[in-house]
Amino acid sequence: MIQGNMHTHTTFSDGKNTPEELVLTALEKGFFALGFSDHSYTSFDLSYCMKKEAYPAYKAEIGRLKEEYQDKIELYCGTELDFYSSRELKEGFDYFIAGVHYIEAGGVYYAVDHCAEATRQGIDEGCGGEENEYVRRYYENVADCAALRPLYMAHFDLLTKFGVINEDSKYYRKTALEALDVLLDAGIPIEINTGAMARKKKDVPYPAAFLMERIAERNGCVVIGSDCHDKTQLDYAFDDALALAKSTGVKNVLVFRGGKLVEAE
Ligand SMILES: [Zn+2]
Ligand SMILES: [Zn+2]
Repeated sequence: MIQGNMHTHTTFSDGKNTPEELVLTALEKGFFALGFSDHSYTSFDLSYCMKKEAYPAYKAEIGRLKEEYQDKIELYCGTELDFYSSRELKEGFDYFIAGVHYIEAGGVYYAVDHCAEATRQGIDEGCGGEENEYVRRYYENVADCAALRPLYMAHFDLLTKFGVINEDSKYYRKTALEALDVLLDAGIPIEINTGAMARKKKDVPYPAAFLMERIAERNGCVVIGSDCHDKTQLDYAFDDALALAKSTGVKNVLVFRGGKLVEAE
């Protein structure tokens, strides 16, 4: 059983609940730890990320909750750093996770996780109709996240969210596996992310089975996260994610406890 989650969003970015509401839900569920990872500021899409001026209030509120609940639960103030956010926006937190939510082409940022139409637009307008080029750009960004040294890599294959990309193509598999190898070479844990399951966009977590198999083969580490935007989904499908890790032979399932990643019990 996984009773912690480092991938959560609150009303400071695009989550439905306040940080305190998530703390109360975590306590109900018997969590030992909860991390807040609101979206880092990006200048080109203000619809989902934290406003620049909200950073001090965010940090202050998590600080207040840490004190208030210090005897009951470990709380961590983090952020989900978008690949295109300014790098300094990962500083001053207890931790950060990395996520690629866009590909950039010709100065335009195309969201990979917005809707099927946006994915097609990214391929058609951004990449001249070449799906492989879209895949290449996405995974180039993912691989580049290794150098940032995040706590872990969030939703590794987010670009598959709407079923537009052909995950069975040779090119896709080769490109995804190469990016995965870069992260594994750098010792970066990979998230098993149940967020799209919670939002009924997928019936399996990220990453896909062939990627899980590679993680197992290479004895890589995983961390289970729900990418929670709604308190009712704080530990959505965590049991399924754990079972998937075990069934694919992944041995190192980690949780954040005592300020570091340790083996889940
Ligand atoms: Zn994300
Ligand atoms: Zn997220």
